[in-house]
Amino acid sequence: MFEVLIKINCPHCQSSKIVKNGKKKNGAQNLLCRSCRKQFQPVYKNKGADPAVKELILRLLERNSGIRDIEEVLQVSRNCILSNLCRHGNQLTIKPLLKHYKKVQIDELWSFVGKRKKGKYWLIYAYCPETDQILA
Ligand SMILES: [Zn+2]
Repeated sequence: MFEVLIKINCPHCQSSKIVKNGKKKNGAQNLLCRSCRKQFQPVYKNKGADPAVKELILRLLERNSGIRDIEEVLQVSRNCILSNLCRHGNQLTIKPLLKHYKKVQIDELWSFVGKRKKGKYWLIYAYCPETDQILA
């Protein structure tokens, strides 16, 4: 008879001080980190809730990946990507490849995200048509 021990670290702070913390509605085990007091699951049934997937969504958005491309590659819903963009969009840092650009277009667009009552979300961006890159 074998006993398999699986060591789980907190995905937020990498601490190993983890305790069980009940079950989620879908029956998944919920864990609590004693160091940062954040809850997480060892295996996420809902991919969009996984902190690693959330981080990957933000990295892909930084690299100018389209929302539909991210949806297809990571197999998460479009609403999941947009909600991550709304919550953590201010953490994104876009690094232009070149130091100087000859021509830059500045454009704007708006959209409703979530409920219409929350109002319009405006996006203003600088775009280089030669390199097909979003600069800021
Ligand atoms: Zn933690």
